[in-house]
Amino acid sequence: MIPSNPRRSKVFVVESTVPNFVHTTHPVTVPPRANGREIARRPVLIAGGGPVGLAVALALASRGIAALVVEADQTVCAGSRAICLSRRTLEILERLGALTPFQEKGLAWTGGRSFHRSEEVLHFTMPHDQDQRLAPMTNLQQYYIEQFLLDAAAKCDPDLLEVRWGTRIDGLHQGPDGVVVELATDTASYATECDFLVACDGARSRVRQAAGLRMNGTSYEGRYVIVDIEINLDLPTERLAWFDPPSNPGRTMLMHKQPDNLWRLDYQLHPTEDSEEMIREDNVTPVVNAHLAMMGIDRPWRLIWTSMYRAAAVSLDSYRSGRVLFAGDAAHLVPIFGVRGLNSGFDDAFNLGWKLASVIAGCSPDPILDTYSEERRRAWEVNVTSAMKSTEFMAPPSRGYELMRDAVLSLAKDHPAIATLIDPRQSAAIAYEGSRLNTVTRDEGSFKTGPGPGSPPLECPLIVNGKKRYLTNVLGSDFTLVWSGEGDVPSIVANELHCAINRGLSVVLLTIGTATLLSGTVGQLQALHAQIVEGRFIDLYDAAPSAVYLFRPDGHVCARWRTMQPGDLSNAIDTALGCRKAARP
Ligand SMILES: Cc1cc2nc3c(=O)[nH]c(=O)nc-3n(C[C@H](O)[C@H](O)[C@H](O)COP(=O)(O)OP(=O)(O)OC[C@H]3O[C@@H](n4cnc5c(N)ncnc54)[C@H](O)[C@@H]3O)c2cc1C
Repeated sequence: MIPSNPRRSKVFVVESTVPNFVHTTHPVTVPPRANGREIARRPVLIAGGGPVGLAVALALASRGIAALVVEADQTVCAGSRAICLSRRTLEILERLGALTPFQEKGLAWTGGRSFHRSEEVLHFTMPHDQDQRLAPMTNLQQYYIEQFLLDAAAKCDPDLLEVRWGTRIDGLHQGPDGVVVELATDTASYATECDFLVACDGARSRVRQAAGLRMNGTSYEGRYVIVDIEINLDLPTERLAWFDPPSNPGRTMLMHKQPDNLWRLDYQLHPTEDSEEMIREDNVTPVVNAHLAMMGIDRPWRLIWTSMYRAAAVSLDSYRSGRVLFAGDAAHLVPIFGVRGLNSGFDDAFNLGWKLASVIAGCSPDPILDTYSEERRRAWEVNVTSAMKSTEFMAPPSRGYELMRDAVLSLAKDHPAIATLIDPRQSAAIAYEGSRLNTVTRDEGSFKTGPGPGSPPLECPLIVNGKKRYLTNVLGSDFTLVWSGEGDVPSIVANELHCAINRGLSVVLLTIGTATLLSGTVGQLQALHAQIVEGRFIDLYDAAPSAVYLFRPDGHVCARWRTMQPGDLSNAIDTALGCRKAARP
């Protein structure tokens, strides 16, 4: 038996193949203090060293902003938590300098199958064509996710990123210039000061309680037993779902492959079944045995751990309360079906990271932090709309829904159009349409396709200086201008780029095709000259006969033009930095 980790899982059944780092207890440190207050003061304190807290810290460190992460536990998480990481998350992890171990250890997949009773009724694939380099979905246990982020954090300058274990946030007081945070270990209590507090302390956020805030939304009646087992199966990585299977009539069962021969089974409880009883090993074992037998599998397996899950779609009204920002599960919860919980948390971290750094560095005024809340709250609404449809399909909330769901399942095999209603709608990046950081240019109406203002980047293969690359791995840390305009980049545009650089921003300039910079204008621009691969940029971005795209630090499109005029670029950068109101055509 391994000790129960109060943080993440209800029951641990047997010690198993989980890697040693899951059991590693990190030491608690208490910093030098004067009069009960920590002497050092950092710009940012992050509550919670789960995946979102660590991602925020890495995003800040990559921009030279120091952060202290305080984590109540002394280990990474154990138990059944997130396993499915989206393509957008991998893009973000790459930008945080952490991608490689995720790809080495994770299991990439592109689709899945759904069964009604014993018949296959849907075989879906997620978009994955020759333009992509990252898998649409990758399975990896959350303890690996946290450990790989910690490994990336360990490579940062310790003055920029410190993780303080066994230290919990107990309270806070906001003042006009900062936040005083009360911290406690098992043996000491002290206060520390910061300019901004980022609450990433999970679903039961202490910071949220201390700030007197509540999440609003919907909680679902359906309960799911989550079981991880160790079994050696030679099956592909895909998402498998059974509705009313002969082995477990009336249940919905999901199955996912994880690294290290672990498999995740989720199954719905009947309304009369008792949660605590049903996660006991003697009740889980017959359900799993029957399911494996139905699949024709006769192999030994070991139970690793079980827990109970109940779906909720709730959110704070605002992810900002003065100098306190909320991210990940501390800000919002979405049902796990469609895997938008952690994936949306990484998007929060990446969105907040550049904006907070920009405010602290003096490049943006404070109100840009309101746009973090506006953009990500809106993303939660979009996520929840899809996740609720999936949840209601998995666990119909009423008899009427159940009849409709069963009718769809019965018809799906012979009617492909109906089968799309079963599609689990997996997590995808969300466009910040209508964001006040976007610039809608006079040319916007002339674009028939391609990502508009606020959209995440559309992947596109490129040849950059003779090497095959992709758009998402050549985007710069601040702004990227992709020029596929006619002729050379005019000196007026290059001068505006220089102005941005003189403000301390880094700018990557990509010129597509034959366009070049006029001699003498390169200066300190980080200029990459890209060539077209099979005309993909031109097609994907509707870039013929000419187009100029500006991407902001998190890769979302700020603005696009057919032809640029003096001042266009500076205005769009100022708008994206929150320094001016967005111009409308
Ligand atoms: C069964 C299950 C399956 C899931 N599957 C997926 C999936 O496949 N894909 C997906 O995207 N999402 C999934 N999720 C959701 C995902 O696990 C969460 O969204 C994710 O963990 C949120 O990360 P976080 O960093 O915001 O919070 P957490 O992971 O909860 O981390 C919060 C951290 O804060 C610490 N903390 C708490 N209180 C304090 C305090 N007072 N002081 C200091 N530290 C504190 C905690 O110890 C913890 O380390 C799943 C969830 C469950 C339960």
